[in-house]
Amino acid sequence: MTHAIRIHQYGGPEVLSWEAVSIGNPAAGQVKLRHTAVGLNFIDVYQRTGLYPLGDFPQTLGMEAAGIVEAVGEGVEGLSPGDRVAYAMVLGAYSSERLIDADKLIKLPDSINDETAAAMMLQGMTARYLLKNSYPVQRGDTVLLMAAAGGVGTILSQWARHLGATVIGCVGSKEKADLAHAQGCHHTILYAEEDVAARVRDITGGEGVAAVYDSVGQATLISSLDSLRPTGTFVSFGNASGPITDFNLGLLAQKGSLYVQRPTLGTYVRNRALLTESAEDLIDVVAQGIVKVHIGQRYALSDVAQAHKDLEARKTTGATVLLP
Ligand code: NDP
Repeated sequence: MTHAIRIHQYGGPEVLSWEAVSIGNPAAGQVKLRHTAVGLNFIDVYQRTGLYPLGDFPQTLGMEAAGIVEAVGEGVEGLSPGDRVAYAMVLGAYSSERLIDADKLIKLPDSINDETAAAMMLQGMTARYLLKNSYPVQRGDTVLLMAAAGGVGTILSQWARHLGATVIGCVGSKEKADLAHAQGCHHTILYAEEDVAARVRDITGGEGVAAVYDSVGQATLISSLDSLRPTGTFVSFGNASGPITDFNLGLLAQKGSLYVQRPTLGTYVRNRALLTESAEDLIDVVAQGIVKVHIGQRYALSDVAQAHKDLEARKTTGATVLLP
């Protein structure tokens, strides 16, 4: 029997409900997939609470997983039963089996195991577009990132360092600072205790950083802008502390003719060619060991409510994998 974690209303972790579902056979262009590992992401929290609204209820949450092809629908080429695949940014991953459009799937090489794939697709392709599109990192740049010990943060810091940047990572605790150092940060800042912009000025000889990759949102907006060099780039890509609303564009002039972007991964994988390019680049850096995906914790998929509680309470580090 297929099981899924569904919600029938927006709310706290208690709305996540483990239910038996029936999924039927793949339609034309679809694949039936048996999930072997599911990725947990902060976007799951935003979708659970309704910050990012979904369509009609019930909805199966989850945006990322790895698994094995069980059956293919008419017209599907290049995939056969038994193939190992992974995907990101397709709702419905919190399930033991699902139907999915074949063109969302990426075949996995033997060098990437299923848990790593489930942990890396969404967060890793995010790190990639941040570093290659949002603000393309140049060798010799200094960049600042928030939540450096988190899922996106641990990949972002390793990849930025590989591209030749000096990486400053903000973290919530001393233990997370140790992890962030081990994951590629040259410097760490405890943003709840220290003056972030002052520390950044110290580290950069008064100049400020070329770019800030900020996933925390509301709580870090001003310190992020104050950490930038003149004409630096503020990339605001998340809302872990709450969304930024009523942004005053004049701040960009006052603080040094700054640039700002509020991107989403969906834009950067919006068609098959972009998805393939992004996933192949990610698989390449992971297969080569340039980026090591740090899985900090694992939960049974049926215990996903606890995983959400821990993610929101800032208790997790690196990526989190849910096991169906
Ligand atoms: P993380 O593993 O980074 O977990 C979130 C971390 O944010 C926490 O561990 C915590 O680290 C920090 N944080 C700071 N303030 C708060 C707060 N008030 N409540 C909770 N956490 C807080 O999650 P992900 O790697 O899944 O995602 C990181 C961010 O990136 C999220 O905001 C997510 O939405 C965003 N994202 C955006 C994408 C996009 O394309 N726009 C795609 C993927 C992710 P600490 O204790 O060190 O402060």
